[in-house]
Amino acid sequence: MNKDIATPVRTKEILKKYGFSFKKSLGQNFLIDTNILDRIVDHAEITEETGVIEIGPGIGALTEQLAKRAKKVTAFEIDQRLLPILKDTLSPYDNVTIIHQDVLKADVRKVIEEQFADCKEVMVVANLPYYVTTPIIMKLLEENLPLKGIVVMLQKEVADRMAAIPSSKEYNSLSIAVQFYTEAKTVMIVPKTVFVPQPNVDSAVIKLTVRETPAVSVENEAFFFQLIRASFGQRRKTLMNNLMNNLPDGKKHKVIIEEALASAEIDGKRRGESLSIEEFARLSNVLQKALD
Ligand code: SAM
Repeated sequence: MNKDIATPVRTKEILKKYGFSFKKSLGQNFLIDTNILDRIVDHAEITEETGVIEIGPGIGALTEQLAKRAKKVTAFEIDQRLLPILKDTLSPYDNVTIIHQDVLKADVRKVIEEQFADCKEVMVVANLPYYVTTPIIMKLLEENLPLKGIVVMLQKEVADRMAAIPSSKEYNSLSIAVQFYTEAKTVMIVPKTVFVPQPNVDSAVIKLTVRETPAVSVENEAFFFQLIRASFGQRRKTLMNNLMNNLPDGKKHKVIIEEALASAEIDGKRRGESLSIEEFARLSNVLQKALD
């Protein structure tokens, strides 16, 4: 029986055997520590009834540990050069499917329906390519996929933003979007030394538990997110100024915005970053009706 893929020696052997060279542009930093992988899989609470979607299996380090515990693992890999390697490294596991596709272009819902009909729940578990962390997470959340949760390695800085609370320096529109759909918690801080090559930034693992219904009741989600983006436009400006400058026809609607703020009991002189998700929801529901 081969040693686990995620050891420095075995990883080196595999890379050498296939003459593989890392592509920085694809965010290729492979994990070489089985302890860290075990802990990631523990946090995902995977059982033999769980279907797992992985994004970017690389040479299969995490995939292998997932395959040992899950019912099925389906992984999206963009880099064609990794396909023959994965076929080789994951040959002991008959519950793994690799899809050669950019996950951002994939019909993930269809894949879930086709692959996981016999699973009790579906989790996303990945060591994400850092150049596309936010678009991947937002795609998974905005498509309202039937997921139990998402446990992913990403830049610590992005994890901090996703789990940030109002008025903190990290709180922004990403914090609200993530917390609207999920309960977010940073569960691990990970040193650079467990990757080859080592990334330039610190890493963390975040656990996003998908809510049954969004955190707040919003009548028009598109407007809610437009309002949030507008409110964070220029961080040093007041909420009122940001709304006038960044909402379509904002200046023309000055009075309507002032009235909506008053009726939602929010002071327009506050900064956008001080508003809670509940306050944004209240303002969104009032202002959207007023502008209709
Ligand atoms: N899971 C492996 C590990 O932990 O060692 C590799 C993780 S590495 C950080 C990211 C992986 O994502 C690479 O294999 C890369 O080729 C792949 N990747 C990058 N962009 C992708 C995309 N848009 N869709 C699918 N896979 C992608």
